[in-house]
Amino acid sequence: MGCGSDYLSLHQQICSRCTHLLPETGFFRQPNNPVEKAFFGRIRVENAAALYYFTKQSLIQELMVQLKYHQNKHAGLFLGRMMGYALRSEPRIADVDLLLQLPLNPKKQFKRGYNQAEVICEGISDVWPKPMNSKAIQREKFTDSQTTQSRLSRWTNMEGVFKVMHPDQLINKHVLLVDDVITTGATLEACGQTLMPIPDCRLSIAASAYTL
Ligand SMILES: [Zn+2]
Repeated sequence: MGCGSDYLSLHQQICSRCTHLLPETGFFRQPNNPVEKAFFGRIRVENAAALYYFTKQSLIQELMVQLKYHQNKHAGLFLGRMMGYALRSEPRIADVDLLLQLPLNPKKQFKRGYNQAEVICEGISDVWPKPMNSKAIQREKFTDSQTTQSRLSRWTNMEGVFKVMHPDQLINKHVLLVDDVITTGATLEACGQTLMPIPDCRLSIAASAYTL
């Protein structure tokens, strides 16, 4: 992907020049960054950030399409590793105890064969060795496409969608909830809300990309 260079090692998706040209946000080292601000007044987060700006007809979009619609897990592992490099050098987020992928709708996951956020988590833990917990939260019921709905109806729609299966595993933990793209943050917010009643459980949020 990217410039189409042939100078790639096995499973490498993108040459190093194209990798350096990806539009990094710098949000991981920036308190009160736009992603964090998007959650203000909605849910308490320790840190929130996205690694890249999501723009249309870009390499980021191509990576997301590969990951979500073309069964290309290597695209997700690449995105995860890039996020891992950003995370491991950031003192603000060093005390994270575990990685939790945003659970996917079970029907979608069955169709795709995997949860793209879980693949990103695998990439993160390749370079930043934090345990993953893919079973802690379950997504319960089917929700329709939410693109045309307002934030309020979207929230109502999300109620009861997520359920903590093993709260005991999350007590006194700093959880990093991971997704591919942050748009409104409504789904991450709904998922994060289910962690709030767990004693001393703290929440941070990380995504590969962010749409303005
Ligand atoms: Zn290139």
